[in-house]
Parts: sequence; structure tokens; C-alpha cells
Amino acid sequence: ARRCVMAFSTHVHVESGAKSWSLPTGLFINNAFIPSVTGSKFDTIDPSTGDVITQVFQAGKEDVDIAVTAAQKALATWQSIPAAERGKCLLKLADLIEQNSTELAELESLDNGKTVKDAIGDVQGVVEVYRYYAGWTDKIAGQTLDIDPKLHTYTRVEPLGVVGQIIPWNYPLMMQAWKLAPALACGNTIVMKTSEKTPLSGLKVAELIAKAGFPPGVVNILSGFGTPCGEAIARHRDIAKIAFTGSTAVGRKIMIMAAESNLKKVTLELGGKSPNIVFDDADLDQAVEACFGGIFENMGQNCCAGSRVFVQAGIYDLFVEKFRQKMSQAKLGHPRDPTATMGPLVDAQQFNSVSSYISIGVKEGATLAYGGKRQGTKGFFLEPALFTDVTDSMRIYQEEIFGPVACVVKFETEEEVLKKANATSYGLAAAVHTNDLRRAVRMEKGMKAGNVWVNCYNLTLPQLPFGGFKQSGIGRELGEYGLREYTQVKSVVMNLA
Ligand code: NAD
Repeated sequence: ARRCVMAFSTHVHVESGAKSWSLPTGLFINNAFIPSVTGSKFDTIDPSTGDVITQVFQAGKEDVDIAVTAAQKALATWQSIPAAERGKCLLKLADLIEQNSTELAELESLDNGKTVKDAIGDVQGVVEVYRYYAGWTDKIAGQTLDIDPKLHTYTRVEPLGVVGQIIPWNYPLMMQAWKLAPALACGNTIVMKTSEKTPLSGLKVAELIAKAGFPPGVVNILSGFGTPCGEAIARHRDIAKIAFTGSTAVGRKIMIMAAESNLKKVTLELGGKSPNIVFDDADLDQAVEACFGGIFENMGQNCCAGSRVFVQAGIYDLFVEKFRQKMSQAKLGHPRDPTATMGPLVDAQQFNSVSSYISIGVKEGATLAYGGKRQGTKGFFLEPALFTDVTDSMRIYQEEIFGPVACVVKFETEEEVLKKANATSYGLAAAVHTNDLRRAVRMEKGMKAGNVWVNCYNLTLPQLPFGGFKQSGIGRELGEYGLREYTQVKSVVMNLA
């Protein structure tokens, strides 16, 4: 009997180091944690040791159906609430996340491997996103158009209905906020799938969602794999829109599944191979700092990772020397060690994939100028790696590695570097480091990327739209643009004659 109770218990108590947590592990449907229909579960691991943290319930197709039904039923309730009251739920959620930020950050760090310090920064960003969209709930407006005196003509901006959202593992809490907040602000209800690599923090937020006053069924959060759970969401006929963040390969499949099922609307935030360009006249130390953070933040597991660093010939040698110096000061360590600046990669699969790119780079003839070796025997710690003597045809230069691997390339002229920077199927982010304002603007205009930074990197703000050009995505998240992706416009003509 005891085993039976354990098997269907939707919460666990986990001890890790000096910490202990009571964690929800069930599927979050109708503001309650429930077991999956089949009772099946999967392990989630601690990347710093490779050990299992706990098991969570795994959603299958039937669970997706149950969640979609809950979300459909909740639509009428959610939309009958005055808009400002919806905003209050979002504000309350932001407050609860802020009050629980240490616990959430530690949990994020435990499941993902990022340092607790970095995770605290993520949680602060998450709180800002919920607060930003809380302010939008009662400001989503149509227009009255005076076209003809005999007609009363206006537009109404309406929510889409039930939306499906699929998120990755690199910034679990942040990606959850970028998707939940705008969709809720517009009056939609949600079925979200978190990544199978990092299900824990999203479930902890689910606990807070239930406390924040959202009616049951407004937000439903499922732990599960791409197949079957993600596919069931992408193919569901009662889901009006799918918002996906992940790899370009899976994004392509999502679009096909959306097309084959009910032509649901699709937004995609996909991969990148972003250029970070340093001109001779840049503030060198600031540029080194920005290029270092640009590629090594989150162990390079960042869609915007500035993985191609272009440096002008006049400062190339000095830049490489300073960059290596900066790398040697980085401390790869346990994510809970307050002196660590980098943690492990998320799991064995990611470790093997990034390590294999380092071998490929060496085989291709690039010079491994720093790092790239495994550290320790437990967990997935990989030294950040720097490649020089990289040519355009090399795979390490062409493909998204999604790990701490930088390619540094020398260039001579503005025209040459712009051409190289844009010669990729991706277009997510790009940066320029220069003290010449005219050059900065010329370069910004020339960049085929959705996000361009000048003299900084990785600076995303809730108020500014974020998304990709070319094969880095479709649609935008954040800012006012983010709302457009969760609404549809109705045109109304009334005959007054
Ligand atoms: P992934 O594409 O493997 O998985 C992303 C999500 O999709 C996960 O939840 C996964 O379970 C799910 N999934 C996998 N196969 C599926 C299928 N057939 N149907 C439905 N869902 C499926 O990506 P990942 O490894 O989690 O994340 C890394 C990728 O995400 C990188 O390419 C990175 O650039 C990209 N990314 C982009 C952004 C952005 O905003 N542009 C942000 C973060 C990550």
C-alpha cells in the first residue's frame, strides 16, 4: 500500500547538499498537481553530479487532451474577469516569485547547472517580465475608424483562445515567463510543456500560480518529452496557436504539425550563430568583457551566443591575449559555490555534443588556443574553449554548437566583416563594438538580425521585442509586439442608416 501511495504521490521531498525542498512532481492541471494517466514518470538529473534529483510525472497524449479541456473550460471565466483584475493576478505572481526567488534560483541551478548567482539574475528578469505584462492587461485596445457617417466602424482586439507553449531548458524560468505573461495579459488560457531536461522550476512556479489567484485551468503545465507530449500539443485541433522556443530543426517540425492539423498560428524562437564584431577603435577591455559574456554566459547554452567573434586586424593579437587571460580567470565549479563563475553543461547528451564539436574543430585544422577539456569525472563540466585560425567552411564556424566554444576570426574592413557576419541562415543577434557612432549605425543597418547590440551583449529588456530574422524564428516575444502574437483583430461595421 505504501508503494502505491508513493507511486501516485505528486510531491517529493528532496535533500541536496545542505538544502531540502518539497517539490511538486505532478502534472499541473486545473490548479492541482495530478499523476499522469498512465502513471509513467521520468528522471531529472543534477548536472553537477549526474545523479537523479527526482522523478516527475510524464505527460502523454491523453494528459494533453485533459489539459486542453481544462484550458477550454477556463476561457469563459478568465475572459469575464475585468482586464485590470487579470493584471492583478500577474502582479501577485510576480510578488510571489520575488518572495521565493532564492528557492527558485537554487532549484533552477540544481536542475540546469547554471550558478546560483546567474539563476538569481534570471529570476529578477522573470519578475520584471510578469510586472511589465501585468501593466498591459487593460491597455490592449482596438480603434474606432470614422470612414463613413452612415457606418459605425471599429476594431476589437481579442485573445486567441487556448494556446500551446513549448519551452527549452537553457533558461527554464525565463522562457516560461516570456511565454506565460503576454498570453495571459491578452486573456488566453494555456497548455505549456516544459523541457524534459529541466522540469522542476516550472512546477514550482505552478504552485505559485495557484496561489496568485488565477482561476483553475487558466495555466496548465505539463512535464514531458517532445514525443509524445510536445507533438500532441502541436497537433491538437483545439489549440489556436503554438509558441515554440528551441532548435531550428524542431521548429520546422512544429510548423509542419501546425499546418497538418488545424493551421494553428505559429511563433518560433530558434537557434543562432551570432556575430560579435570588434573594431580597432573599440574600448578594448569593454569589448573583451562583452565578447566573453556574449559566448560564455550560461555556458554558451544561449540562443544569442556570440559564437563568432570577429576582431579587426589592428587589435587582433592583443584582443586574443586579453580574451585568453579573461578565460583563465573564469572559475568552473559547482553551481552552488559562490566563487564559481561557470557551472556544468545541462546533461551528458549536451556534454557529448559540445565535446564532439571541439574534436571536429581540431580535426578541421583550427587551433584550440584555450580550454576545451573535461574537468573532473563527475558531472558535465567542460572548460570553455577558444578556437583561432578558423575558416568559413569549418563546421565549428557554420553550425550552432550551443556550448562554451568561441571562434575568433580576424578581419580587415567593414564591408568584409558585414558580409561574413550575415553569411548564415540564422539571424537572431549581432553586436558591434566601436566608438565611431556613424560606423555603429552603418553596421546596425547592415546586420540581418532581430537583435543588435552596440558596445554591449545579451541585453534583453521586457519592453523591447525579441526574435529572429531568417531561420532564427517567426514572430516576436516581449514588448508590445509580443502581445500581437497572442491576439487577433476583429473588424466591425454597423449600418447606422
Ligand atoms: P529542442 O528543439 O530540442 O527542444 C525544445 C523543446 O521542444 C523541448 O521542450 C522539447 O521537449 C520539445 N520538442 C522536441 N522535439 C519535439 C517535437 N517533435 N515536437 C514538439 N516538441 C518537441 O531544443 P533545446 O535543446 O531544448 O534548446 C536548444 C535550442 O533552443 C537551441 O537551438 C537554441 O538556440 C534554441 N533557443 C532559442 C531561443 C530563442 O529565443 N530564439 C531561446 C532559447 C533556446
